[in-house]
Parts: sequence; structure tokens; C-alpha cells
Amino acid sequence: MAREVDALGGQMGLTTDLAMTHLRRVGTSKGPAVQTIRAHVCKELYPRLMQQVMRDQPNLTLLQGTVKSVQLSGGRVVGCVVDLSGVEEVISARSIVLTTGTFLNGLCHEGKKKTVAARLGDKASFELSTFLSDVGVRLRRFKTGTTARIARDSIDYSALNAMDSEPDAGPVSFANRVSKPLHQLLPCWGTHTTEQTHDVIRENLHQSAMFSGQIEGIGPRYCPSVEDKIVRFADKSSHPIWLEQETWYGPEMYVQGMSTSLPAEVQLAMLHTVPGLEDAVMIRPGYAVEYDVADPLQLTQHLMSKLAPGLFLAGQLNGTSGYEEAAGQGIAAGINAARHARDEAPVDFPRSGSFIGVMIDDLVTKGVEDPYRMLTGRAEHRLILRHDNADTRLTPLSKEIGLCSETRWSRFAEKQEMIASGIASLRSVQVSSADNPALAIEGEAPLSDRVAVFELLKRPRVDVERAIYLAEKCGKRLTLPEDREVREQIQLMAIYSEYIDRQEKLVQHSRRMDDLRIPASLDFAKVVGLSYESREKLGRVRPTTVGQASRVPGVRPADIALLIGRLKGYEARVP
Ligand SMILES: Cc1cc2nc3c(=O)[nH]c(=O)nc-3n(C[C@H](O)[C@H](O)[C@H](O)COP(=O)(O)OP(=O)(O)OC[C@H]3O[C@@H](n4cnc5c(N)ncnc54)[C@H](O)[C@@H]3O)c2cc1C
Repeated sequence: MAREVDALGGQMGLTTDLAMTHLRRVGTSKGPAVQTIRAHVCKELYPRLMQQVMRDQPNLTLLQGTVKSVQLSGGRVVGCVVDLSGVEEVISARSIVLTTGTFLNGLCHEGKKKTVAARLGDKASFELSTFLSDVGVRLRRFKTGTTARIARDSIDYSALNAMDSEPDAGPVSFANRVSKPLHQLLPCWGTHTTEQTHDVIRENLHQSAMFSGQIEGIGPRYCPSVEDKIVRFADKSSHPIWLEQETWYGPEMYVQGMSTSLPAEVQLAMLHTVPGLEDAVMIRPGYAVEYDVADPLQLTQHLMSKLAPGLFLAGQLNGTSGYEEAAGQGIAAGINAARHARDEAPVDFPRSGSFIGVMIDDLVTKGVEDPYRMLTGRAEHRLILRHDNADTRLTPLSKEIGLCSETRWSRFAEKQEMIASGIASLRSVQVSSADNPALAIEGEAPLSDRVAVFELLKRPRVDVERAIYLAEKCGKRLTLPEDREVREQIQLMAIYSEYIDRQEKLVQHSRRMDDLRIPASLDFAKVVGLSYESREKLGRVRPTTVGQASRVPGVRPADIALLIGRLKGYEARVP
């Protein structure tokens, strides 16, 4: 999703390429379709660079203050009331995007200690929760947590496994040819919990804010706290832990895998049972935070509230967790808020085009039961939605809506041209074992027929370099672009071409369903023949297309068929 944000013209990837402290390619034991890159950024430098970009942005005014409420007139957004250093001001606006994260009614827990705050040191926000519930937004409580921070120089590194960065795994941004971190990339350090760690946790579960019943909010299923892991996976004697440096030069080390809401003294005892952390100094304890989230079922596919046109909601407020999830919604809501303000048609993000589209559709169609994280398995078209082709999927849209710089566009167009011409030459040159009976000697099975060199790329051990070499052995010369990304795309297209073609057919089918619009005036309760359950579920979600209706949990395929038939009749009656 970070690469999709980048392809749409967002800043995340560009700043990450400068501020990264650690970089690796992940998922390498699986196929290229689910591989991606993971970057850690310096927690001080990243926001500093981002703020600079915002200050340098023409036509953008930055104000620091607390939004108290949103003003509506005739149900539509007309402005908001902001507290600017104790002075309340009304700012008029046709569109507003709320991205309040964990701030609404934030409550932090560390053991039995409760602090009214959104994050350690950040004041919670209350008035906006009141405003949202007054307009009819359904609010509920979620929770998330963080780990203790320990002093970098109190760790015994001889007991840890270093995981080095892979500088060649980047860049994150398609606008860059290589990542250009401002300082050297750092390793992460691996260790693990022990039986003693688990004993300390079990003995103190009654003091955990989560297990003592003090926390009402629902926590993230996919990033559980360490106490949650010990209870849920009781048969495991160890869980991995990664130590990550938070900034290049600061003292703080993040203890990935040990998010907790146990009291500080228990956290320290627990840390001291981990190999390498026997003498660790805890700079700050971990804690859990509970906050209000707004039910995303009350949002349109463009992240606009169905209750107040002009009001957009994005990020953790919609029940997600994670930086990329927040960024993906942020750019989609931002684009559509700007278009709403200018009376322009909204931009759709279909499921088949991006993980951003999958996430938004999941949120507004299925709602959330626990903090939503994007997992590749949530997408039905995974071979099409790869991290390496996010530019192909989204740069044209970014250009169309005015978010793509000329430099970025010409780099994109040049890359597409190189891929197309590379594939064309690989397809135009054919080889056979007759050209070179020695092909088998080169370690390749003989060819039963004459085939295009492009076809050789489907063989497991043949990459573009080897295909060129084999062609040369057959007396055929091939010149292909040296660009690493271009060669990677050619290779992936060869490996997956048949599967991708099959997925494209399925995509066409779902596009047709998504093109069938459901008029806002249709009353599902009055559609004769619809099952009671489907009427109730469709009435609650109010899908805007037949495609979306078919994805509402509990809606039966027979009801969708009936709906399609009824819509034809409805269109004929309603002009
Ligand atoms: C303790 C903790 C640890 C986390 N660790 C990770 C992690 O390791 N990896 C990961 O991917 N995700 C992590 N997350 C989740 C991630 O931080 C969030 O999901 C993401 O930052 C949410 O982004 P957001 O833009 O929705 O909100 P936030 O990043 O929380 O930003 C909300 C902003 O809204 C402002 N705001 C709130 N109310 C008002 C108001 N009334 N007026 C004006 N401004 C207001 C706040 O000042 C803040 O700047 C963590 C979250 C927490 C709380």
C-alpha cells in the first residue's frame, strides 16, 4: 500500500527513501506475487522531512489547533470550529477529512494505572466524539498497544542474531532509481521469549489491563500483545522478538513482539528473562490505548460519511491499525474530499486495482470487528496486485487527476516503453534445439519445438540474463534494457502471464458487477422477493453497486440475481 500511495503521487515513499534506517525484502520464501519490501524509518527525521514538504507546498496553509466540531448546514459540511491556542475560530470548508487516530476519548493503560491520553504525552480529544455521535455515527471502542523502549547500550549483542539491511531491496518510491538514506542502514537484532518470560507473564496476568477486564476495547488480532500470545498459543515455549533502533543516533530500542499493558515493574522482570536483555535498562514502559472508532459501514466507497455529505473519515478512526492502512485511506479520502469541494465526480478505487481499493471496500461493505490490518490474503486478485506493479496500476490515474509530476510521468512512460519493447524482442526471437543441440549441455532441457525466447523465461532457472545468453548460444542476438526494474517486470510477466490472463477475466466479471449502480433512492425493504436477511443487511450497508451488494456478508447469490432483475425494471420506471 505504501507503493500504491507513492504511485498515486503521495509523499510516503519519497520520504521513506531518505529517512529509512532499515530495509529488507520480505516474503522471499514465497512467490514474487506476495514478496514486498519492508522499511523502518527514523522516528525523528521522517516527521521532520514530512513537515518540510508540507511547508514547501504551494497553496497549503498549515494551522495547529484542536478541531472541536464540524459545522453543518442542511446536513452538509460548511466548516469547523478550531481552538487555536485558546482562541476559537470558524474555518469554512465544503469538505473536511477527520483523521483523529487514537485520539477520540483516548485512554492509556499500564497495569491498573489509567491515563486519559491518546498516546503517551498526547492529550485525548473529546468534543469530536460528541459531535460524531450527535450526527448519528455509531462509535465503538478498540484498543492497540506498544512495547517498552530499552536503552541501546544496555543490550548484550553477543547473545543476539543480527539481521542486516539489504540496501538493494529498495527504493520504495517509483520516482527514485535507488533509495538514498541520509545515513547508513542499520541491522535489527533477533532474540526470543523463554519459558521464564512466559512464567512471569502468567503469574501477573491478573495485573494486565487487558486480562483483568479493565480494557473494554477490542485489540488487533494480527498484532496481539505478548500476554495475548502466551494465552492464545499456550503450547508455544518461545516467541520471536526483534530489536529495532528507533532513530539513527538516539538511545531507544523498540522491542518488536512485546507489546504489553502489564505494570512497568513486571515489564522489566519480563524483559530480563530474554536472552541478551538480562541487564536491559527500560527507558519507557509499554502501554495499551483504548479509543473511539466510527463504524465504517456508514461511509461511502469514497470514505465520505453517508450522514453528512462533505465529511470524510480516514485512518485509525475507521477501525484500521497501521501506518500504511492510514496512508492508503488518507490519500483516497484526500483526493475525494478535494473533488467534492470542486463539485467533481469522485474517484473510485476498485478492488481489482489496488490494495487500497480492497481495504476501503472491506471497511465500508463488511465493517470491522477488530482493528483491520491489510493482509495480502484479503485480496482475491493477488497476482495482479503486486508491489512491483503498483506504478502500472495507479500512475495513469494519478496523471488523470493531476497528482503526477512531469518528471514522474516521463520516468513511468519510459519504463513502460522499455518493458513493452523488451517483451516484443523476446517474443520475436525464436530458438530451438536444432539451432543449438548444446542447449541441453547448458543445463536446459532440449526444446521439442521452436519457441520464443520469452517462453524460456517461464523455466524456473532462466532469468532475463540467462535467456539472452541462451539465445546467443543459438546464434540470436538480443539487446534488452539494463534497468533492473524493467527486467524484473519482464520476468514476472513471463512467469505469470497465463495466470494473470485468467485473473483478468475474473476481474472483467467483477467490474461488470461494479458498473451496475444501485440508485440511492432504492428501498431494499420494498424489493419484492428479497430474503428478509438480505433486505436487512443491504438496508444497513446501502451498497452503491451490485458488486458491492454481492460482497455484503450474509447476502445470498439468489438475492443478487433477483436484485439485478429488479434493477432493470426500476431503471425503466425511474428516470
Ligand atoms: C502506541 C502505538 C504504537 C503503534 N505502533 C505501530 C507500528 O509499529 N506499526 C504500524 O504500522 N502502526 C503502529 N501503530 C498504529 C499506527 O500508529 C496508526 O494506525 C496510524 O498512525 C494511524 O494514523 P492516523 O493518521 O489515523 O492517526 P494518527 O497517526 O494517530 O494521527 C492522528 C492525528 O490527529 C490529530 N488530532 C486528533 N484529534 C484532533 C483534533 N480534535 N483536532 C486536531 N487534531 C487532532 C493528532 O494530533 C494526530 O496528529 C501504533 C499505534 C499506537 C497508538
